[in-house]
Amino acid sequence: MPIAPERIVGTDLMDIYRKVDLGERLSFEDGMRLYATPNLTAVGYMANIVRERRHGAKTYFVANQHINYTNICNKFCKFCSFYAKKGGPAPYEMNMDQVRERLGWHRDVDLTEIHMVGGINPRLPYSYYMDLIRTVKEVRPEVHVKAFTAVEITEIARQGNCTVEQALADLMEAGLDSLPGGGIEILSDRVHQELFGKKLNGEEWKDVARAAAKLGLKQYATMLYGHIETLEERVNHLIQLRELQDETGHFLTMTPLSFHPEKTELEHIAKPTADMDLRGIAVTRLMLDNFEHIKSFWIMNTAPVTQMALWYGADDADGCVHEYEITYNDGDFGNKSQVLTRSNMIKLIEEVDRIPIERDYLYNDIVREATVEKKRLTSIPVAVG
Ligand code: SF4
Repeated sequence: MPIAPERIVGTDLMDIYRKVDLGERLSFEDGMRLYATPNLTAVGYMANIVRERRHGAKTYFVANQHINYTNICNKFCKFCSFYAKKGGPAPYEMNMDQVRERLGWHRDVDLTEIHMVGGINPRLPYSYYMDLIRTVKEVRPEVHVKAFTAVEITEIARQGNCTVEQALADLMEAGLDSLPGGGIEILSDRVHQELFGKKLNGEEWKDVARAAAKLGLKQYATMLYGHIETLEERVNHLIQLRELQDETGHFLTMTPLSFHPEKTELEHIAKPTADMDLRGIAVTRLMLDNFEHIKSFWIMNTAPVTQMALWYGADDADGCVHEYEITYNDGDFGNKSQVLTRSNMIKLIEEVDRIPIERDYLYNDIVREATVEKKRLTSIPVAVG
């Protein structure tokens, strides 16, 4: 016999449950209560209702490779451990031969997407970014190229002495297919001033998103949480994203990203907990009623938390990521490569009784013969657990 919702949700959150049940939009106050309640199970239960209404047990993943083309950056964000600095990572800047070589590392893997972001390196001219995209398309014409956060787009336009619209149009002509999230971290003037004042502000970030939407470019959204932001600022960030999506409709997916303080200027801040990560996913699913997909990024919240997140609102487990260097640089896990093979990813999803679906960037199913075969393989690397 099914358990009555009151017994899971509790009387104090039943008004929110009724809204979720009816598909009504949640308010700022609802969001604050979802963050504040000690009843994490209730929040996850309600987020799972929305997740299953949209996607059932389907869980999407993508086979992608990350390329971080330079770590030289003039923005000095306090939360960042990636950029080159004295006593930190050594500076690098990939030339096109090095990009080709990097792509060659996984030439035998069926990849769907190349994800490229980097630091804001003022030595790189406009033509560099066009060459970067063209090089990827030349080596792997079949892949989808997702590249450049809004702050990189602004820098590219500055280098080209042109508008953001023109820069985006030129990048699209070179082969750019979509924009990743990132670049704003959290839409709060206070946090912007304190942590990343040299980067664009919230309104400028939104203007890049609007320009992308106008050109028909799809985009992803993120929220970096667990640093100095307040709960109000988190909810406010979600509501601003929701309003922007109402206006543009061009966001595909939202990914809450937990902050890792190691090797940053904020090392005194406590590391994220599973409660924080699961609640972040669940509240995001509940507040963003106009986002089709919510992603759990296992590189940041670990494979086991991502497995749980698939019952807390997430329908996307990201993917078979190769060489993600932004968070775990300098070998925090003894190895820069962060990889789950296709079979690992399928096992991760099936272990928690969800249905793995390999997807393209628009969430169309990709059927591979090899996938069926590799389903029989086992083992998830312990390094990411
Ligand atoms: S987050 Fe991006 S813009 Fe900020 S310092 Fe790091 S690489 Fe540079």
